[in-house]
Amino acid sequence: MLKDSQGKVGFPLPGPDHCLLRGEMLEATRVQELPGRAQGACSRFQNACSMVALVTGSTSGIGWAILKALAVRGHDVMLCGMIHPEGLALLQGELSSLGVRHSFSQHDLRRTSEVEAMIEQTERELGEIDILVNNAGVQHVAPVEELSPEKWDDLLALHLSAAFHTIRMVLPGMKRKGWGRILNVASAHGKVASVHKAAYVAAKHGLVGLTRVVALETARTGVTCNALCPGWVLTPLVQAQIERRQAEEGVSEEAARHDLLAEKQPSLRFVEPEELAELVLFLCGPGGNSITGAALSVDGGWTAQ
Ligand code: NAD
Repeated sequence: MLKDSQGKVGFPLPGPDHCLLRGEMLEATRVQELPGRAQGACSRFQNACSMVALVTGSTSGIGWAILKALAVRGHDVMLCGMIHPEGLALLQGELSSLGVRHSFSQHDLRRTSEVEAMIEQTERELGEIDILVNNAGVQHVAPVEELSPEKWDDLLALHLSAAFHTIRMVLPGMKRKGWGRILNVASAHGKVASVHKAAYVAAKHGLVGLTRVVALETARTGVTCNALCPGWVLTPLVQAQIERRQAEEGVSEEAARHDLLAEKQPSLRFVEPEELAELVLFLCGPGGNSITGAALSVDGGWTAQ
């Protein structure tokens, strides 16, 4: 449990004279006693928390937007995902320019041992994880009787089992420190179904269920666990579906994009990855203290219908 300067136990709200650094409330005067980098984190981001954040699938799309926003806030970040060396160098360059500690993990999260290796690497290189974002994902589109058992297993392993494994590994540390944030990137498909997405919809519904159980089990610990449920976001994952629609219907890319939105998303605009990142920042701040077990729709009205 965290204690504030009066020794009060609970979730800390740093005042103007205080700084929260890796779960420890510090009086501003003590910041000067810290080693250089930690001092920088405190003085640059006074009143903010400097934490260790891991975002799976952060080499692309939604995950990258979330990871970058956390780094801009001064958090140390673990970049994770599959990426070619040139792309990786660009992302690492951006993180270096923000002056935070960062590292990179390229593990195939369909395998339990690889998930464990990713968490162990993060703790070794950056320290215990305070903010965990389970985001890595893929899509397979096929009628249920044509979906191969291998694809079913892969998708469930990546979207659901990997989240279970990361959560079970980071929770003891978060509970011990009395603070933690777990964000599971589910989907509108965590609440409603669509045709030809049996494994995806099952995995995302499962992820929302897992989120709720973890929220109940951590309700008095200072740890929160929430699911984000985006509608369409224009990332490589969705671009592939647009191209598929283009090919099947013989329409232009613009028409395929419009049809995709018109079918599900009343706003008729894509959700921006940065909008999801803003929500993550809010949930990681004091405004998120009592928000737990929620499946938060960011879907332009998709699930309001
Ligand atoms: P994306 O394709 O841009 O990024 C996917 C990320 O997952 C990449 O970093 C990739 O390297 C990583 N990844 C894929 N397979 C992996 C594996 N086996 N092991 C480790 N990492 C792996 O996709 P995105 O659209 O940013 O999706 C991110 C999350 O958001 C997914 O869980 C997706 O289901 C969810 N989501 C996306 C949308 C959307 O419209 N794009 C909507 C709702 C939910």
